[in-house]
Amino acid sequence: MRYSLKFPALLFILLTGCISMPATSAPTNTAENITFRNTIVSLTFDDGDADNYSVRSILAENKIHATFYIVSGFTNSNGYMSDDQLRDLYNDGNEIGGHTLSHVKLSEVRGEELKREVCQDRSNLAAYGFEVTSFAYPFGHYDEEARRVVMDCGYGNARGVSDGPEALPPVNVHGLRAMPYIVSDTRLPKMIRYVTEVENNGGGWAIFVFHHVCDGCDQYAIKPGVFNKFAQWLGEQQSNGLNVKTVGEVMKEGDQ
Ligand SMILES: [Zn+2]
Repeated sequence: MRYSLKFPALLFILLTGCISMPATSAPTNTAENITFRNTIVSLTFDDGDADNYSVRSILAENKIHATFYIVSGFTNSNGYMSDDQLRDLYNDGNEIGGHTLSHVKLSEVRGEELKREVCQDRSNLAAYGFEVTSFAYPFGHYDEEARRVVMDCGYGNARGVSDGPEALPPVNVHGLRAMPYIVSDTRLPKMIRYVTEVENNGGGWAIFVFHHVCDGCDQYAIKPGVFNKFAQWLGEQQSNGLNVKTVGEVMKEGDQ
C-alpha cells in the first residue's frame, strides 16, 4: 500500500518535470535553423589509403580542406596514395600530417625504434615538400614516452581517436581528442548531429576521423555518397558561421 501511493506521486513529479522543461530551457537549434558561433570542424583521414584520393574533388567543390595523416613507409605502394597524389591534395590547400613509418602502436616500441617511427616519417614527408606540423597516433595509442618523442621530432600537435569534442583552446595539444569513429553504418544525420551538438553545448572542436572511403570495402569506411553529402552540408554551413579547417590551421590560429 505504501508503494502504490508513492509511485503515482513520483510519476506525477517526473511527468510534470518533463513537460515543463522545454518552456524553461533555451530552444534547441536544429540542423535547419542553426547559427554557428563557436564550432570548428576538422576532417581527418588516417593511413593514406588509395581511395582517399577520391575525396579531393569533393573537398574542392565544397571549398573545404582536410588533414591527411600519412604512413610514409606505405606511400607509393599498392593500396596507398602516391607522393604525387599527396602533392595534389597539399597543393589544393589540404594538410599532410604524419602517422608513423609503418603504423605501429607507439606504446609498444621504445627508444631508437620509437624515434625512427615518428621522426623518419616526418623527414620523409618533409622530403616530399610538405610542411608537416600535425601527427596522429596509430590506433590512438600513446604513452608519455611516445608523446615526448612526437614533440621532440618537431610536431606541434598530435591527435588521438576518442573522447571528443576537443575544447578551444585544446587541453592537451599532443593528445587532441576526436569524435567517435565514423564506420560503415554511421549515417549522415548522426554526423550532422555530432556537429550541431557541439554548438548547442557551447561550442568546441569536432575532429572527425575517417579511414577508407568506399562502399563496403572495410568496417572503418565511409560511403563516398555519404561523405559527399556531409561535405556539402559542411560547405553550406560555412555561411552560417561554421568553421571547417585543417588541424594545422586551427593550431596555427591558436598560436596568434
Ligand atoms: Zn591509422
